[in-house]
Parts: sequence; structure tokens; C-alpha cells
Amino acid sequence: MTQQANRIFGIDLGTTYSSIAYVDEFGKAVIIPNAENERVTPSVVFFDEDSIVVGDVAKESAKLYPNDVVSFIKRSMGEPNFVFVHNGEEYHPEEISAYILKKLAQDAEQYLGEKVTDVVITCPAYFGINEREATRKAGEIAGFNVRQIINEPTAAAIAYGSLDSTQDSVALVYDLGGGTFDVTMIDIRRDSVEVICTGGDHHLGGKDWDDRIVAHLVELFQAQTGTTADILEDPDTWQDLQLSAEKAKKILSRRERTPISITHGGERVKVLLERKKFEEITEDLLERTIEFTKGMLEEAKAKRYDHFDEIILVGGSTRMPQVVKRIEKEFSVTPKIYDPDEAVAKGAAIYGWKLGLNDRLIQRLAGKTLRPIQQIEDIPELIENKELSIEDVKKAAQQVADEAGYTLPSVESAMLRVKNVTSKSFGVVAHNPQNRPVLINLVLRNTGVPVTAKKNFYTAVENQSSVLIRIMESETSQVEVPVEYGVEIKTAVLNLPPNLPADLPIEITFTLNEEGRLHMTAMETRESRQVEVVLDTACVISGEALEKAMARSQNLVIH
Ligand code: AMP
Repeated sequence: MTQQANRIFGIDLGTTYSSIAYVDEFGKAVIIPNAENERVTPSVVFFDEDSIVVGDVAKESAKLYPNDVVSFIKRSMGEPNFVFVHNGEEYHPEEISAYILKKLAQDAEQYLGEKVTDVVITCPAYFGINEREATRKAGEIAGFNVRQIINEPTAAAIAYGSLDSTQDSVALVYDLGGGTFDVTMIDIRRDSVEVICTGGDHHLGGKDWDDRIVAHLVELFQAQTGTTADILEDPDTWQDLQLSAEKAKKILSRRERTPISITHGGERVKVLLERKKFEEITEDLLERTIEFTKGMLEEAKAKRYDHFDEIILVGGSTRMPQVVKRIEKEFSVTPKIYDPDEAVAKGAAIYGWKLGLNDRLIQRLAGKTLRPIQQIEDIPELIENKELSIEDVKKAAQQVADEAGYTLPSVESAMLRVKNVTSKSFGVVAHNPQNRPVLINLVLRNTGVPVTAKKNFYTAVENQSSVLIRIMESETSQVEVPVEYGVEIKTAVLNLPPNLPADLPIEITFTLNEEGRLHMTAMETRESRQVEVVLDTACVISGEALEKAMARSQNLVIH
């Protein structure tokens, strides 16, 4: 008897909004509405006395209880010092994100009458190891079996069907969300999706467009009432204007103008905002996204990617008509826009569905290899290593297709390889010929992972007793930069045997695994003494704090 595998859900854990999707029995990705019958849920958490409220009500509550509401928690993922204190209790970003995830799962369970256990969660391509690990931990605190953390642009490309085409293509994913802007180049082949380059501004998003409207409304209010006071100092007015601005912005995506009323200190002013004016006061923000896109394209050129075939628009803010217009003008390509605020969750669900099919294939093929089933992940690799024959794989795929009621190509497409790049550069501090300390990068950002890089450094003096290795992380794309460009993430000491000459080579090896986790080895080349360091994710919730978060979350019902 075979055990029915759990369905794998896809979750877009966004900065401003989140959503959950699954693949139905017809193989179609479907968004699951929340208890308020909305397809996206504001990523806002309200600590209401003894209960936790997530979503629309939490967003509205920010006005009355600003100190009890947490928004934009995604920006603090992987940040070591962030804790939100409520009633004397400390909450880490992972736990607050877990509440958002729980709300999505709880509402989905209610809707489908089925438990949500296995999930694929998305994160921005620029997220480093800490942020990814923090996202995984958030899923675990919410009680999920987190099957994989995948990149948002990759998920979007999957949802847009770019992978189903028989032709290889290079896609540019332009993602303008609520709080962030990312642009990513991905290379899509028949059996792999590879992130080539990623860039953007993590503090540029729809919220900035809202803020411009708010500032404009303040000016109009001042002009009409004659006041010079800063009406935004009143938290009620500030909250009110924020909500009205976002509403107005969305209306302007469909209409040429919209009325807005501004109330402050007992006075009420009615204004009319034209789309043209809105575009004018936000033009520089849009230009910034174009500049970032051009910068990323330059970086891609250095990796011999000098063209792209399609542009995919993702993120709610790409619904603003000026975005499409500006991109068309700049790149002479009509961007693909379809479900921009649902594509990521749907893509994650499709990816989860593929993982499920892949599991079934592995179950069937495990007996044909000498490996234990737990060690089989990548079927194409086993074919390449001749551990499996193409015929065996085809036969298994046909059996899974027959059993699950899917087509053979869809089962074959489940054997997909997702490749990533490192979002940070990694190196060590060394002394240059002028004896100044410099940062020498062994792995540059946007290098595909897994990767291994080796470099020799040299002892400074005769009979040196040890070498201090300072491992640095940075965002530069150059091999040698001033030390100040990097952040020290770990140090290691290699003790040396006696009587070594000066200038003895010390071989340093960096290995980054698929998830971008760094492993360093330093070895002196006389007696081969070595020191090894695995970079841990010290910034991610652990120990007592994790246990506490798990316990608090376990029986929690989100409102
Ligand atoms: P995301 O993080 O991708 O869910 O994007 C959320 C952002 O998209 C928020 O800033 C929303 O205000 C914005 N947004 C959603 N729908 C629209 C729309 N129709 N027109 C303009 N902006 C929108």
C-alpha cells in the first residue's frame, strides 16, 4: 500500500501582503482566499491583549494602537538585534512572520477542509543565508514541514509558464512590491532555472508612491486652509492619509482621476487627484527602478548575458500603468503582465506540486540505484552519473503519470533543477604590497552556487606562529576593495608549525553550498595543518527563544 503524500502548498510571504496557493486536481494553480474572502492578506500583525490578529483588521488597527501593531517585518528577517516587546514578552521576526504564515494556513484549512503541513515559501533572490534560514524557521515555528525556500522571481517565471516553453529563454523579472524593488535575470532551460544576476533597492516600493501622495495631500490641505502646521504630526491624520493615499493610488491604476477627502482637526477638505499629477510627483521613483535595471543588465553583461527574451512583471505596484509604459519605452519590449500579485504564490504552488511528483518518481526509482532513498534528490544528476538509465526514468515517469492522472510531459517537467547565485561576496583580509589591509574576495556576488574557490596567501615573516583569518562578507563586485567595504562575519586562527620561512603559501578554500552557506578551510602547505570554519547562522532565532516561540505558536489561533 502506498501512503498518500501530503499536498505541498505555495506561500508568498510578502513585505506588505502575503498569499497562499495550491495546485488543484486539474493541475491548475489556485489562490486560496482568506477568511475575509480576500486573495491577499496584509502582512500586518496586531498584538491585541491576549490574542493575535493578522491581516486587514490588524492593518486598520495600526491607527488606534500603533504600538501594538507590527508591519514590514520581512525587512527585519535575519536581523540579529530586532525584537518586538509586548506585555514584557520578546518576539523575534521569525515568530512574527510565523503568525502571518499561520493565518494563511488556518484560513486555507478552513476553506479546503484539509490540513496544511508541507509548504514551499518564497523569498527575494537577494536574501542571504541568514534571511533564508530565518524564513525557514518562521515556517517551522508555524508548524510546517518547509520543503524548500525558493526565489520569488523564479516562482514568478514558473507561474508565467516560461518554463513550459520548449525553447530556452532568458527572462528579466521586474518585481515592484509594497516595500521592495527587485530585478532579476533568470536563464530558463528545459530542465533548469538559473538565477544569473539580481539587483534592486530593498527600500523602494509601493509605499513610497503612497508617501508621495500623502505629502501632496498635506500641501493641498495647507493651501486650502491656510495652515502651516505639519498635520502629519497627528498620528490619526497620518494613518488616515496613508490609507486614503493607497486607495487613491489603486483607483488611479484604472481611472484618470479620483476624489480624496482630508480631515484634520475638525476641518475637511476635498481634492481631486489626477493620474497625470500622480505620475509627475512619482516620476523619479520610477526612474530609480529603471536605473537599477540598467545596472543589473551591466552586471549580467560581465557574465556574458547581453540580451534577454522577455520581461515579466511581478508585484502589485506593476499595476500602475506608468510602469508598463516606461519599460516599453526603455527596452522596446512589451512586458508580460498577468496576475502580478498572485504569480509568486502560484509559482511556489506549482513548484511544490513538481516536488510532490518528483517524490513519487524517486520512490519508484530508489530500488534501481545503490543509494538510500534519502540521498536521492536530483534525478538528472543520477542519469548523468549513469546511476540510472533514461529508460528506467521514462518508465517510472509514465507510471506516475498514469497513477496521478497527469500527462507524461508534466511529470517529466518535475525533474527541474533550480540554481541560484550568491547575493553577497565573500573574502578575507590580507595585506597588499604597500602593507595596507585590503579585502580580497574569493567568491563574488552573483556567482552561481554551489561553488568552490581557492586562493593562496602568504606568511608575512619567518617563524610566524599563527595566521589570523578574517572572513568578510560584502556587496561589492570587485576582487580587491578597501577593508571598510566588508563586514567581518567570522575569524579563525591557523596555528603554524615552527621554523617556517616567510612567504609560505597558505591555501584558503571557500565552498558555498546550494543554499549559500559558507565553509572555509585554511591550510599551510608545509605540513598540511589546517583549520576549518562553517559559517553558522547566528543571527537566526535559536535555543531558548526558539523553544519559547514554538510553544507559544503551537496552540495559537490567529484572529
Ligand atoms: P505586493 O507586495 O507585491 O503584494 O505589492 C503590494 C503593493 O502593490 C502595495 O504597495 C499596493 O498598494 C500595490 N498595489 C496593489 N494593487 C495595486 C493597483 N491596482 N495599483 C497600484 N498599486 C497597487
